[in-house]
Amino acid sequence: FGNQLVEYAEHLMCNQKYGGGAVRTEIELPLDLSSVSSGMRGTADAVIYSHDDTTIEIVDYKSGSYPVTPHANEQLMLYLIGALQMTSDGLCKYEGGHIMTIAQPSVENGPLSFRSVTVSTDTLREFLFAAQNKATEARILKHPIRQPSNTACQWCRAKAICPEYHEWAGADVLIAACDKGDDAKMSDQLAREILDNRKRITDLIKSCQDYAIGKLNGGDNFPGYRIVEKQGRRSVIKSDAVKEDLKVLFGLDSLQPVGVGTLDRLARENDVCIDFAITRGEPKMTLEPIGDFSEDFKTEEGD
Ligand code: SF4
Repeated sequence: FGNQLVEYAEHLMCNQKYGGGAVRTEIELPLDLSSVSSGMRGTADAVIYSHDDTTIEIVDYKSGSYPVTPHANEQLMLYLIGALQMTSDGLCKYEGGHIMTIAQPSVENGPLSFRSVTVSTDTLREFLFAAQNKATEARILKHPIRQPSNTACQWCRAKAICPEYHEWAGADVLIAACDKGDDAKMSDQLAREILDNRKRITDLIKSCQDYAIGKLNGGDNFPGYRIVEKQGRRSVIKSDAVKEDLKVLFGLDSLQPVGVGTLDRLARENDVCIDFAITRGEPKMTLEPIGDFSEDFKTEEGD
């Protein structure tokens, strides 16, 4: 990981870019995006300006393992607009192409990758115009059109209260399927539909949990639920002596931390009996149904 960070830093500081001229690199650059929508802001991971500001590269560092493409990436286009508007000529003079780069260290466990695309100032102007229209529509319409998708809603914290998301995630269908009771047969088609949509369904459940926990933490009531303390996970104590013993016993390089279940299995497989020290992690606050211990309410966290 350290090597990858060095590579990332070298990419940002490289002064061989853009015809060999010196570059100016800004890290964590706050951007004013009020030209798109009033009050809109962002922070670019890195912006590399050529010496004459005619070429700008926006770099976004993604730590997630799901590969992200820079192609038509709206986040990067918005940042590029913000970065261009900080130059003396804004979006007026320079024709591009500007560069949008995604740096991602963990794609399929491979090395640090840089994926770049070029975008012209004309394309950015068109995008800005479309984004301004969308933002205006969202502000002035009483019920702006919402089009849920896994990408659009990924980080949205309003899933629990968004009717469009409920519909898209098939909340009604799911509840109806659960209400069928034991004697009703789940059809293959329904089971498949539910499985095909597991991400949007589990995201909805998570969002509802956050919503309920938020209310309860804020001192409000949330019908039928309360917050309880759940014991933290157990793991082997971080003691070098214990680690060394385990290394000798099982030939493992790293055992910090290791689940107790894993250790039990290793002990069984190696036909040894061990006493080991364990720690229990910090307790977690979690939702629990009040007074209803029927099967429907049983969850991994709330049992
Ligand atoms: S959950 Fe609803 S409000 Fe949030 S991004 Fe998706 S459609 Fe928009």
